[in-house]
Amino acid sequence: MPADLIDGAAVAKKIRQAVTLRVDALLVRDIRPGLTVILVGEDPASAVYVRSKEKSCIEAGMRGETIRMPASTSETELLARVDQLNHDPRVHGILVQMPLPKQIDAQKVIRRIKPEKDVDGFHPVNVGKTLIGDADAFAPCTPAGVQVLLREYGVQTSGRDVVIIGRSNIVGKPMASLLMQSGETADATVTVCHSRTANLAWHTKRADILIAAAGRPELVTGDMVKAGAVVIDVGMHRVADPSTKSGTRLLGDVHFPSVSLVASKITPVPGGVGPMTIAMLLQNTVRAAELYG
Ligand code: NAD
Repeated sequence: MPADLIDGAAVAKKIRQAVTLRVDALLVRDIRPGLTVILVGEDPASAVYVRSKEKSCIEAGMRGETIRMPASTSETELLARVDQLNHDPRVHGILVQMPLPKQIDAQKVIRRIKPEKDVDGFHPVNVGKTLIGDADAFAPCTPAGVQVLLREYGVQTSGRDVVIIGRSNIVGKPMASLLMQSGETADATVTVCHSRTANLAWHTKRADILIAAAGRPELVTGDMVKAGAVVIDVGMHRVADPSTKSGTRLLGDVHFPSVSLVASKITPVPGGVGPMTIAMLLQNTVRAAELYG
């Protein structure tokens, strides 16, 4: 039997509706939650992400602002801009869109954002708090969104074997941090695989829950998945496809046709994890305004 689809777009809509209600409650207290995104350079994919973040903020009744800086911006100039936003009481969340031009040290910029405004959850203080299981951490949006999807679809994680493919700081590592904690939608036994893992399929076949975040199109095929496993596809790749109107289509890290025949539940691409990322960003921003506004 083909797997049930995990509808990320529907869950994201629900999260955004809840965010809107929280924004309304803050407006009564004269606080308008605000997210400022800094975009350095003209990377077309980044420009699309940034526009959609700004639009989503405004739709939720929040202040959404984008600061565009030229590709030639120096590290000192960018840090000065971050300092300004750190001190601006109208700004509750600051997000510096990655990647940055090579003259800028991304880690230095991330560390400059006040942890209370780091709604991306990349500052070492938030990374540490997430690992400790501190309730006031801002967890990175994509793995936090995956955890919400598992919760919303009643996927039991306690005592289950979770295998994550990928060890990046934005997806793989924080995903492991979240699911190994004790508590709701956690308590899992987590294995993190990466590019040096010997015999990836041996690990993936053991997974009750398989989370693919390798950045490799259709890396996970049906023969690598245990029957009945829950499969979460974080990957996103735009590939050429002359048969579509746009000439392109999106693929994930999972080979959907074969894996969906083996899994019990699966996220599609698009419409799975993708919509959750922005929803969680809005949720982190409204939370920043509630906590520190
Ligand atoms: P990354 O390139 O930073 O990290 C990829 C990780 O996968 C690395 O740790 C690497 O060791 C591992 N890896 C690569 N090839 C592998 C292989 N053959 N076997 C096992 N491990 C392997 O990527 P990232 O930023 O973590 O993103 C991963 C994917 O998720 C990308 O496709 C990205 O576009 C997508 N993504 C989607 C969202 C979203 O909102 N849906 C958000 C972030 C990232």
